[in-house]
Amino acid sequence: MMRTKLVAGNWKMNGSRAQTDSLLRDLRAALDGSPPCEVLVCPGFPYLQQAGELLAGSGIRLGAQNLAVEDAGAFTGEVSGPMLADLGCEYVLVGHSERRSLFGEDSDTVAKKYVAAQRGGLKPVLCVGESLEEREAGTTERVIGEQLRAVLELAGVDSLASAVIAYEPVWAIGTGRTASPEQAQAVHAFVRGLVAENNGIIADSVRVLYGGSVKSSNAGDLFSMPDVDGGLVGGASLDAQDFAGICRAGGH
Ligand code: PEP
Repeated sequence: MMRTKLVAGNWKMNGSRAQTDSLLRDLRAALDGSPPCEVLVCPGFPYLQQAGELLAGSGIRLGAQNLAVEDAGAFTGEVSGPMLADLGCEYVLVGHSERRSLFGEDSDTVAKKYVAAQRGGLKPVLCVGESLEEREAGTTERVIGEQLRAVLELAGVDSLASAVIAYEPVWAIGTGRTASPEQAQAVHAFVRGLVAENNGIIADSVRVLYGGSVKSSNAGDLFSMPDVDGGLVGGASLDAQDFAGICRAGGH
């Protein structure tokens, strides 16, 4: 199965109107009018509309970083899936490690957000990953298995036909310490195997991205692994040239 690589930029809580403007203009120019693989940017909520306008006709997709469990109602400060779809988002991150560790999202909440995303017509990018402590204790597979099973139990394996999984070892996020291609491949194969226990065809087609200090200098080696289908990129996605280089690595 040929899986088209996906390179997704997670801007986190960074940016301004001026930065959104220059970053997306520079990215479009650097990609020379046509993305070499599927490319996605996830700005903060206030900049989604502006980003959507700047990306029109570029082939670059728009996504958000989080969404509410509910679709509408008395949930002050929340942003729902239907609102994001209305703004032109196609994707939304769910269960990013910062949401899990800093904002108390457990696997049940993440699963509900995953379902809410699909209900709103968005493709969830389900983030999973172990902490350094968990890796050192040898519990990586148990942790990731639990994170993934919570979603499979609530949404069913077929839901993965319109979703993406991102493996992000917490110890590699924003630390400059990238997992080796072999370390990433081992976990990606485990994730795909877990999906295959439920549905072999879906397992073969679902994209599993790697995230954690991806840069244009290491993306090629990571993306050459058989079960690595692209990257979820934080820091380097704020630099148009570096991000474009990662996108090009996804085109080979
Ligand atoms: C992320 O936030 O998803 C991420 C992988 O960050 P960084 O690339 O900065 O490690």
